[in-house]
Amino acid sequence: MKKGKKLYEGKAKIIYSTSDKNLIIQYFKDDATAFNNIKKSTIEGKGVLNNRISEHILNNLSQIGIKNHLVKRLNMREQIIKLVEIIPIEFIVRNVATGSITKRLGIEDGTVLDQPLLEFCLKDDKLNDPIIAEEHILAFGWATKKELEKVKKMILRINDFMIGMFRGVGIKLIDFKLEFGRLKTDGKTEVILADEISPDTCRLWDTITDKKLDKDRFRKDLGDLIPAYTEVAKRLGILHEQSNVSAVNVTKLRPLKKRK
Ligand code: 5GP
Repeated sequence: MKKGKKLYEGKAKIIYSTSDKNLIIQYFKDDATAFNNIKKSTIEGKGVLNNRISEHILNNLSQIGIKNHLVKRLNMREQIIKLVEIIPIEFIVRNVATGSITKRLGIEDGTVLDQPLLEFCLKDDKLNDPIIAEEHILAFGWATKKELEKVKKMILRINDFMIGMFRGVGIKLIDFKLEFGRLKTDGKTEVILADEISPDTCRLWDTITDKKLDKDRFRKDLGDLIPAYTEVAKRLGILHEQSNVSAVNVTKLRPLKKRK
């Protein structure tokens, strides 16, 4: 399959066309941004780690029946994904209150929620991704009632699965962001999981020490982002234990598994 022209460049990824009109290539950049692009940096190796971690999680979700856009990882920085029409909503799932909700509602940082809390934000950088109600989504036709019901069911399963997956490797899944898209096949439209799931889009704390192993290391100037993402990859079994954590040593990454 041939890589075509650049279709879109976002804050952390670039999308390219391919010779197949239904497939695109997602390239993971090393760029890190926060606070709607006010804070920017390049962190060497971040894209490589996110590509691998997201591949691992999306493949696992596929195995439990969560359909998603990932076709296969191509190389260290690129994945072939299905072309979908992205629903312009960021679905935020919270298990523990931290980040924006603590400021917005005055909730104490670290409050464990009795049940997962789902929030909706409009995907619009110019408006600062404002939080919206389900009624706004329906009123402005950003998604249908049926789509929302399906997405909510998928989100609960994804959250349950990911809580367990991370708990098994000594990590607490605090919160995360998901995106979904409409896949059109043979005249039928189906909503599937899209974008990425990585330490850029999740808050992950070490179970014992509460050490942050996610993008808050960049947002809060804590440093050592690559060692933290590497630690996540190692615990998930993606990287060998002896891998150097101070830099991404590409030779130590496991080779691609052959797919049928
Ligand atoms: P908060 O609303 O507290 O800033 O973020 C909640 C969760 O959603 C965090 O895990 C955060 O990483 C993720 N999140 C929310 N908005 C975005 C976004 O625009 N980009 C990324 N990468 N993650 C986001």
